[in-house]
Amino acid sequence: MSIPHTPAQTSQSEVINTISYDISSNDPSFPLPASLAESLLHTLVSHIAEAMFLVNSAGVIEMINPQGAKLFGAPKDKIVGKKLSEFFYRDAQEEYDNLFQGWHMTTETQLNHGPKEVLLKRNDGQPLEVDLSLSCLPASDSNPKAVFIGIMHNLSSHKAEYKELRRLARTDSLTQLANRHAFDEVLQRNWQECVSHGLPLSLVIIDVDYFKSFNDAHGHVQGDECLKRIAQVIQAALPSRHCLAARYGGEEFALILPGCNAHIAEATAMRVQQQINKLSFTAQGLDASVKISVSQGIACERNGQFRTPTALLCAADTALYRAKSDGRDRINLSQ
Ligand code: GH3
Ligand code: MG
Ligand code: MG
Repeated sequence: MSIPHTPAQTSQSEVINTISYDISSNDPSFPLPASLAESLLHTLVSHIAEAMFLVNSAGVIEMINPQGAKLFGAPKDKIVGKKLSEFFYRDAQEEYDNLFQGWHMTTETQLNHGPKEVLLKRNDGQPLEVDLSLSCLPASDSNPKAVFIGIMHNLSSHKAEYKELRRLARTDSLTQLANRHAFDEVLQRNWQECVSHGLPLSLVIIDVDYFKSFNDAHGHVQGDECLKRIAQVIQAALPSRHCLAARYGGEEFALILPGCNAHIAEATAMRVQQQINKLSFTAQGLDASVKISVSQGIACERNGQFRTPTALLCAADTALYRAKSDGRDRINLSQ
């Protein structure tokens, strides 16, 4: 069945077709009137949910919506008329200045930049991490002056979340020391740095003596508390802030000591041994006679005797094994 064609229907669909044809084909014979194009653009900027602003070809902000002004941290009238680059720190400031200057010399070029992470210098001087894209609407019959549309997204909460997730992924939840994953990563990095700069690199592996008996006698909860105390002692014994203490496994800990020779590593291990021997657990309800000790194995890379970080780790582990078999509560240095 054919639907009768009314004149009203025809003219409405023709208008829609004409507009979509104009925009998509960019046919100069059917330009959108400049005033209409400008008004549409301003309506878009005002009503869009994103933080959005318009910049002219000299890099000066001509219009900004409330979401955009919020990110810049100032009312509209404090932003409009200023150069976009004023809202960035030095490197980005130069980059955006160069961008507009470069474009100005070859105005025919389409300029699309980003989305890119950049640190915004808010009006109050505070930094804000955003991602920013700049897209050029080139000059045409509908748009006599080229204009740039800036769209920004606030990245601060994502960044904070990412940082926290990264911290959690690298931290042992019981002791708050670095976990095995972080240890492996740091060892690899320190190995490359120390070997390439001809610096020594020492490893210490620390294992709690007879810890199974501690758990059996006092329970796992007390055992967990004990591991936390041990972790604090180990962290405090590090010779510098470049060193890392990690929980390597259940009741095993490991130290990475970049730039430290065997002498410094031994002195560190002795501090650990003395402080562990002094630990008292009376505050957590155990008898004053409850004492613990640790055995430690040390290996030091100096002049290329170990070919890989894994070989160095194996040497420290073998040294630990010897400390255990020699009677525990002692330090053994791999020769
Ligand atoms: P050794 O002197 O030979 O090292 O004896 P050990 O008893 O310490 O060694 P073993 O490997 O037999 O036992 C390790 C114990 O550590 C067993 C395990 O229950 C305990 N352990 C490992 N991880 C944890 C933990 O997260 N919490 C508690 N409470 N205990 C743990
Ligand atoms: Mg063990
Ligand atoms: Mg043990």
